[in-house]
Amino acid sequence: ASLLTAIEMAPRDPILGITEAFNADKNPNKVNLGVGVYYDDNGKVPLLECVRKAESQLMEKATPRTYLPIEGLAAYDKAVQELVFGADSAVVQEKRAITVQALGGTGALKLGADFLKRFSPNAQVWISDPSWENHRALFESAGFTVNNYPYYDASTRDVNFDGMLKALGEMPAGSVVVLHACCHNPTGADLTEAQWTDVIKVVTERGLVPFLDMAYQGFGDGIAEDGKVVRRFADAGGALFVSNSFSKSFSLYGERVGALSIVAASAEEASRVLSQLKRVVRTNYSNPPIHGGQVVATVLSTPELRNMWEEELAGMRVRIREMRQALVQKLKDKAPGQDFDFVIKQRGMFSYSGLTKAQVERLRSEFSIYAVDTGRICVAALNSRNIDAVVEAIGKVL
Ligand code: PMP
Repeated sequence: ASLLTAIEMAPRDPILGITEAFNADKNPNKVNLGVGVYYDDNGKVPLLECVRKAESQLMEKATPRTYLPIEGLAAYDKAVQELVFGADSAVVQEKRAITVQALGGTGALKLGADFLKRFSPNAQVWISDPSWENHRALFESAGFTVNNYPYYDASTRDVNFDGMLKALGEMPAGSVVVLHACCHNPTGADLTEAQWTDVIKVVTERGLVPFLDMAYQGFGDGIAEDGKVVRRFADAGGALFVSNSFSKSFSLYGERVGALSIVAASAEEASRVLSQLKRVVRTNYSNPPIHGGQVVATVLSTPELRNMWEEELAGMRVRIREMRQALVQKLKDKAPGQDFDFVIKQRGMFSYSGLTKAQVERLRSEFSIYAVDTGRICVAALNSRNIDAVVEAIGKVL
C-alpha cells in the first residue's frame, strides 16, 4: 500500500458533469443549457474578429517567448486597470490601484484569497446564497471559513435585498464580502443602483472588505454601465479587491486571461501591496502565460480593434437579450398562465428559470435538454434553431 491506496474518488464537478452526460447523448436534437459559455446563433463559440486581427498582428511580429514579469505584461495590467476603474479615475491617477495579470477570473480570485489569508488570517468570507459554485471551494481551499449571505428570493424571483442588507449589517469588521459586480451567476438577478448605494454604505461603515467579482463585464447593460459599481466602490475609499475575467467578454476561455486589482489608500501603500502580491504569484505559478494577455492588451490599446471589440461584445449582449425576449414570448403560448417576465429583467448569461429539479430531470431524460439541477439555464446557449424545441419541452414539463 502507498499513500495513494486509500484515496477516495472525488465527486464530479456538477456543471462539467452535465456536459459529460450531454456529450454521451446520441439524440441529434440535444441542447446543452448547462454550460457557462456564450454560443452564437449557429451554436458555436465565437472567435472574435478583434482577437483574430490582434493575433495576426502578433504573429507578424513573432517575438521570442521570454518570461513575463511576475505581475504580468505591463501593457495588459495598465489597459485592464483603465478598463476596470476608468483611466481618469482618482485611484488610477493617484496610482492607488495595482493590477496583476491572472489565470482567468478563477486565478484572480485565488490570488486574492491567498493574499487575504496571509494578511487577514482570522477574517471570514461571505458569499451570496446562491453563488458561483467555485467561490466557496476557492476560499475554503485558501483556508477560510465561508458563509452565505441571503441573496436570492425564489418567491419573488428577485434579490432578497432586506435579508442581504441585514446580514451585511451584522458581519464583524474585516469580514471579506464577495459581491458579483454584474450579471449574477447563477441567478441573473442584479442589484439596482439604489441598492448598491445602500450596500456601499454599510460595507464602508462596518469596515468590511469588498471583493468584487466581475466575470461578465459588458454582458449586462454595457461595458461602462457594468463597470460603474467598481468605480463607485473605489470612490467610497477603503481597501477593495476586484477580480475580472476576459473569458466571456473576449471569448478567450482557454487562454486564461483575467486580472486581480487591489485599491490601496496611497501609492506608497499600493507598492507594498504589490510587492506582497507578487510573492503569492511567485509561489503559485511564478508568472502568467503570454499569449492571451498580449491579445487583450493589443485589442484594448488599439483604437480600431477596441471599437471592434466593443461592437462584438454588444452583439453578444444584444443576442442574449433577444433570446430572453423570445423565450418569454414563446412561453406565453406554450405555458399560458405562467409568468416568465422575470427572465427579461435578469442580466448576463444565466437565468434562474424556476424549473424544479424534477422538471430539469424530465427535460434531460425525455427531451435531451440539459440544464443545472437548480434550474439555472444558460440563455446564451439558446439560438433561433433550438429555442422552439426548448420552449416546447419546458411547456410539457411544467
Ligand atoms: N466568477 C464568476 C461569477 C464566474 O461565473 C466565473 C466563470 N464563469 C468565474 C469567476 C471564473 O472565470 P474564468 O473562467 O475566467 O476563470
